[in-house]
Amino acid sequence: MDEIIKVYGASWRPDCRRAKRFLALDPNTGFVKGSVDLDDRGLVLTEMGLQTSMQGVFAAGDVRSGSTKQLASAVSEGAAAAIGIRLYPEPLEARPMHEMVGT
Ligand SMILES: Cc1cc2nc3c(=O)[nH]c(=O)nc-3n(C[C@H](O)[C@H](O)[C@H](O)COP(=O)(O)OP(=O)(O)OC[C@H]3O[C@@H](n4cnc5c(N)ncnc54)[C@H](O)[C@@H]3O)c2cc1C
Repeated sequence: MDEIIKVYGASWRPDCRRAKRFLALDPNTGFVKGSVDLDDRGLVLTEMGLQTSMQGVFAAGDVRSGSTKQLASAVSEGAAAAIGIRLYPEPLEARPMHEMVGT
C-alpha cells in the first residue's frame, strides 16, 4: 500500500507490512496440539467457563479462540479461568472414589 497520509501538513507513508505481521501472529500452541481442541488458526477452543476440550484444563487470553486480543480481556479471562480452576475439583470431591478412578 503506497497511500500517503497528511496530518496537519505533515506527510507520512504508513508501513502496513507491520500491521500485517501483527495480525498474523501465530499462537504458541504446538505443545497442546492433540491434547486440546484448536481452531484452524491454532487457537485453543473453550466452552463458556473457559474450559478446554480436556477436563480440568482452562485457557484464557490471546491464546483462546474468540478472545478479543485486548489486555483488559486477557486479565479478566485469567481471573475467570482461575475461578474455574478453583471450582473444578469440587464436583470430583463429591463423587465416590470408584467413579473418580474409573473402576
Ligand atoms: C504490538 C502489540 C500492541 C498491543 N497493543 C495493545 C493495546 O494497545 N491495548 C490492548 O488492550 N492490547 C494490546 N495488545 C494486546 C495485548 O498485549 C494482549 O491482549 C495481552 O498481552 C494478552 O495477554 P496474554 O496473557 O493472553 O498473552 P501474552 O501477553 O502473550 O502472554 C503469554 C505469555 O506466555 C508465554 N509463553 C508462550 N508459550 C509458552 C510456553 N510454551 N511455556 C511457557 N510460557 C509460554 C509468553 O512468553 C508470554 O509471556 C497489543 C499486542 C501487541 C503484540
